Formats: sequence, C-alpha cells, structure tokens
Amino acid sequence: MKLSVFALFILMLAVQPASPQQTRTITPDELKTWVYYLASDEMKGRRNGSPEMLQAAQYISDVFRGAGLRPAVGDTSFFQEYSVKDRNNVTIHERNVVGILEGTNPVLKNEWILVSAHFDHVGIRQPVDGDSIYNGADDNATGTATVMALARLLTQPENRPQRSVLFAAWSGEESGMNGSRWFLGHPVIPIEQLKLNLNFEMTGEFKTLGDHLFIITGYLFTDFDDLVGKYTPADPWKVATQMQTPPGVFFASDNATFAFKRNGDKTELNIPAFTLVTTDDMNLIHKPSDEPEKMDYVNMASFVNYAAGLITWLAAGELKISWDRGAFEEFLKK
Ligand SMILES: [Zn+2]
Repeated sequence: MKLSVFALFILMLAVQPASPQQTRTITPDELKTWVYYLASDEMKGRRNGSPEMLQAAQYISDVFRGAGLRPAVGDTSFFQEYSVKDRNNVTIHERNVVGILEGTNPVLKNEWILVSAHFDHVGIRQPVDGDSIYNGADDNATGTATVMALARLLTQPENRPQRSVLFAAWSGEESGMNGSRWFLGHPVIPIEQLKLNLNFEMTGEFKTLGDHLFIITGYLFTDFDDLVGKYTPADPWKVATQMQTPPGVFFASDNATFAFKRNGDKTELNIPAFTLVTTDDMNLIHKPSDEPEKMDYVNMASFVNYAAGLITWLAAGELKISWDRGAFEEFLKK
C-alpha cells in the first residue's frame, strides 16, 4: 500500500498528538497582578450582589475581551445576569462572565470543554485578630486568575484547541452554586455537546501537597486521571492520590452542578466535571487571612502553563472519559 503525503498528513491528525510545546507562557507577575486586584481589601471580599463583585466581573470580562474570546451572551455581552433571593429573602443581582473560543477543527468544534472558576467570596464578616475582610485569595481569586490566564494562553495561534472552549467565571458559588446552576438552566452552548468541565479552585498554595502535584476531585470515580497521566510535557505535573482531603470536596464546588443529576431520590453521575486544586490544606479557607501575599506565584505560573498545554492536548484527542459508577455508589454509602 502506498500512502500519499496528503493521506499521511490526515492520518497524523487523527491520532492523539505528542505533547505540544508552548511558546507564549504566563508569567508569575501576570497572575500576581490579577490575584492582588481581585483579593485586595478594596474589593471587600467580593460578596454576591455587592458593587465590588460586579466590578470584579467587569475586570474579568476586560481580560476575556482583550484575549480575543467571543462574548457568549447574544454575541455581544460577556455577562449572564440573573437575580436570586438571599438568606433574608432580599433579591440580589449576580453576574456570570462567559466567553467562547471556537475550536479549530471543523468537526470537533461542535464539542465543548468548559473551563471555569467561581470569582465570588463571602464579603465582610466577623473579625479575626482585628481583620474583618475575607479576601478570598486562594478561594478563589487564584482559580479565577487561572481561567483568565488560560483565556490568554489558549487564544495564542500555536495553542488554539481543536474542540471549542467555553470560559466561565461563576458568581454565586458561596451562596449555593447559584451561578453555575443558573447557567445550566440557561446554557449558551448545546449542553449535550459538553464533554468535560475543568473547574479551578485554590491554585495558589502548594506547601502541603508536594512538588508539582495537583488534585482532581472525584478521581476515585473516573478514569479521567489515567487520561491526564498520558499527557507528558517537558515540565509535567502529576495527579495526587495521597491527599488527606476527603473525596467529598468533589461535591463542594461548581463542577458538582454538571457532574450530578437527580433521578427521583437518586443522585446519578452525569457530565465528566472535576475541580482541580493544588492544595489539600483547607485551614486557610473562609478566613480573613486568605490573603494574596501568601500565594506562590512562581509555582502557580508553572501549574497554569501545564494546564494550558493539557487542555490543548485534551481538545485534540479522543476524550473518552468514563465514570466508575460502582465506586461512586460505594462512596455514597459511607
Ligand atoms: Zn471556592
């Protein structure tokens, strides 16, 4: 059999590509600028419905626009606006930020990867050691800055994913995942074409987990961690399996909105949706001391650059992800 050069080229496209080399990388200073802005005392903890939270949404949308994402709401706006009642039955206005990067492959572009993080936090509360501003640096200015950086990196010509990517900064997470739930009820993409959600939380702290390790919440119920392990760039990060954090954190962020559906009184696994975190130390979370100067921006940049390459790689391959429903049922019984 003789293959023409063109046929060989087509065959090469059809197999999982070798781990690509990135040229544009994100710098620690870019991440630091964004985290210091979002988690500054002036932002007053980005409480849902506050002017500061709406201001944070504007800041994120400016980066999305600057990166070259397409506005996902009516082709003109990055804001998905909605209202909910808070605990005191007062109506508050919230705002998700959503942008689109269309895939480069004419067939695969009809499938979607959702890259997300929540940007709200809990505001001003009970003072601890005289500090009442809950800055929410690692929860979740770092995850938000990760998504902003990924928008900047994946729009570079050499990184452009073959599948389409939806970038989302969710509001309302701290008050019950309102933002991602609103999105699921009012999706801007065909939700049956959503193949994977990578949600980012706490990507600025590294001391306890170990060098170049990150957690994929829910890794006990899926083969997704095996797929991720096949991506081997020059500066690889590995999936941690020794973490102290219980797998219950799988239920604690916006990935849960997509990962589960209720079937009568049963909870069933749905779309492959995971949160990626780089720490198993939850002691900093929801405290006024969760501040931007505690983050490690050099390690964070390394992780974000790895994640960008991972997403480009995942967006080009077969992307078959299975749930281990038996393991999930066992976990629910505990
Ligand atoms: Zn969080």
